[in-house]
Amino acid sequence: MNKMEKILDELRFISTHPKQQLEQYLAAGKKVVGCLPYYCPEELVAAAGMVPFGLWGAEIQVSEAKRYFPSFICSILQTTLELGIKGEFDRLTAVMIPILCDSLKGMEANWRYGVKKVPVINVAHAQNRKMQAGLEFTVSQYRKIKKQLEKLAETPITDRAIAVAIKTYNEQRGVMRRFLAAAGKHPELISFADRNAVVKSSYFMDAASHTAKVRELADLLEQAPESKHQGPKVVISGITADYSGLIKIFDDCQIAVVDDQLTQGSLRFRFDVPLTADPIVGLAEQIGQIEGCPVLFDPGKQRGQMLIDLVKQSEAQGVIFVQTKFCDPEEFDYVPLKSMLDKEGIPSLLLEGDKQTTNYEQARTAVETFCEILG
Ligand code: SF4
Repeated sequence: MNKMEKILDELRFISTHPKQQLEQYLAAGKKVVGCLPYYCPEELVAAAGMVPFGLWGAEIQVSEAKRYFPSFICSILQTTLELGIKGEFDRLTAVMIPILCDSLKGMEANWRYGVKKVPVINVAHAQNRKMQAGLEFTVSQYRKIKKQLEKLAETPITDRAIAVAIKTYNEQRGVMRRFLAAAGKHPELISFADRNAVVKSSYFMDAASHTAKVRELADLLEQAPESKHQGPKVVISGITADYSGLIKIFDDCQIAVVDDQLTQGSLRFRFDVPLTADPIVGLAEQIGQIEGCPVLFDPGKQRGQMLIDLVKQSEAQGVIFVQTKFCDPEEFDYVPLKSMLDKEGIPSLLLEGDKQTTNYEQARTAVETFCEILG
């Protein structure tokens, strides 16, 4: 097994066995804090000496969570709550639950009632995140979160520790940007499944360990000879494309994902946290800078222009929207975005993903047809 394959194998395993990763942190005496989507201030958790751990649901069938959520709530939240109710997260020190969409607003109350063993930390971001008042609101919320984390970690969180954590995370962001750019140029070496595994593993590993592995991958990819891949080139957009059935179809059709605009993907790494005298201000400023995300207030739909720019820069032939079933923010965005792409003559395809869906054969037909259109 060559070096690249060895690293990929490790990250593939971690991305598909988060529970084992969690057990390792707990066995090492670490406190672990679950982080639901979106934009939890992970740097504060790391600065407290604890490990942030992403909770983005799982491909399981839901039964218990149906007592708390109606069936038209997205499967990311349904399956996360299901795992919580079944005790899978009982050894977490706390969970952070943001409230950036209507469904997330109900998650907190359901968690408090259904998963009594794991305390909740609310994460409220200002919707008007760019203006001064919004910035001050987010800062005030982060200070509140800091106090809660200090209590749980039984240690004060210093500005210096936050600044060190920001530096570590910015380094990870930089290395991941390098990896994602190089992976887009080498679909013959990095399948979409592997691209997803490298991103997904970042949610279950401490930032420094993940960065070390991905840096090696990026180095190897940047030295690889130019790709002779002939398949269609696309940009993927949405909240997440972490649906194994869809991922398999993309790889079966030899689709090269040359860039992405996924909240769970590139958007996690695209924007560094500015280095500010008060590091909490920097964390809040970063939220104000993020663009291209369906859950962040975007009245001018800059997400559409950003998508068009990504297509042009990466020389993609089209866009595939992977829409999470029952996700209102994504459904609202789709119509204006599709019309912006149409005006530019960029072909696009809409697919629907769901953690409980086991059969994507209709999607396969749609993807195959789209590939034929792209030529
Ligand atoms: S934004 Fe969409 S996918 Fe994300 S939690 Fe809300 S409804 Fe679910």
